[in-house]
Amino acid sequence: MLKRRVSMLIVFSALVVAASAASAFTLPEGFVYITDVIPTALLEIRYYGENNFMGTRVDGYEAPTAILTAEAAAALKVAADILAEQGYQIKVFDAYRPQRAVNHFMRWAQDLDDQKMKEAFYPDVDKSLLFELGYIAEKSGHTRGSTVDLTLVYMATGEEVDMGSGFDLLGEISHHDTDLVGPAQLANRNILRAAMEAAGFIAYPKEWWHYTLADEPYPDTYFDFEVNMETKRKENVLDEAMLRAIEQARSTMRQDVGGPFGAAIINADGNIVCVASNSVLRDHDPTAHGEINAIRLAGKLLGTHDLSGCWLYTTAYPCPMCLAAIMWANIKTVVYGCRAQDTEEIVGFRDAFMYRFIEGGMKDTSVLEISEYGREECLPLFWEYVERQKQMY
Ligand SMILES: [Zn+2]
Repeated sequence: MLKRRVSMLIVFSALVVAASAASAFTLPEGFVYITDVIPTALLEIRYYGENNFMGTRVDGYEAPTAILTAEAAAALKVAADILAEQGYQIKVFDAYRPQRAVNHFMRWAQDLDDQKMKEAFYPDVDKSLLFELGYIAEKSGHTRGSTVDLTLVYMATGEEVDMGSGFDLLGEISHHDTDLVGPAQLANRNILRAAMEAAGFIAYPKEWWHYTLADEPYPDTYFDFEVNMETKRKENVLDEAMLRAIEQARSTMRQDVGGPFGAAIINADGNIVCVASNSVLRDHDPTAHGEINAIRLAGKLLGTHDLSGCWLYTTAYPCPMCLAAIMWANIKTVVYGCRAQDTEEIVGFRDAFMYRFIEGGMKDTSVLEISEYGREECLPLFWEYVERQKQMY
């Protein structure tokens, strides 16, 4: 267990208390958490949030976690190891799914008035046909505990691999044999498929992300226990974010992508949004610090420049540039591992002169010469901006 700031514990224990007040959750015999078996697995549990085809949290998803039968998780580990050798991490969207969630899907499918997520998830399919076409069913293989929805992420950058269509995009473009995507995207789908099939999974022809263990342990049982974290585990989410940031930093440092710095962003629900690391060397980009990369990735994933409510974990105290970026992103909570003086004393990276420059009124010309020029020509940009803002209302 990592050492944690006391104030963080207080904030987070509220969540733990709220969760345990409902009922203490224990994982049923025969089931495991994917991240216990595959620590490098990324999770983006779409049915726990609102970025899914229903646009709302799905019944039975009480925590952003992924559960599988022990057999399916062991097989998934085999696939993840194959993929890791090729430079990929797996990202899981869904795994075991309770029957009550499937029932929720069914109720939604019958309500033809509710089409708020049509554009993003089933633009070319009539909602009334989702059932008939096999996208929604009364029973789901996920409920038997040995089916998983996943994609690939480049280990070096933390970015998702382009599969030609997003998770749960219901339509022909997501079929394995579609000609609606390009050869590179089909090749990417096949990298995932080859590893999953080698590990004993069967692909679903209509969804490139959906795999079922061929030799599943409960072929006839549809479970209905909730997707939840054991109370003890909720306390460890904070540690998990830091541990993943450390792992990511180590991995890219060893590939000479950048310095030994990693960062993770978790959202208000306690979901790890993304993990990123320093890529200054590979990208020839002096601004590609772990925190900046994490902020850029989180913005892309969440579709907003405003990361209010998110927390940032970083393996070392942020430099002035990253501190400013964190504030621009409206992140109000930062947790760091190494201190600024550790960075300076052990590695020789020096941020202190930047702070001294700012504190000294930015007058030290040996650090930076900064002067005014062309104000008259630049000011009209502001006037025009103000005019445009007025016209918006
Ligand atoms: Zn920085």
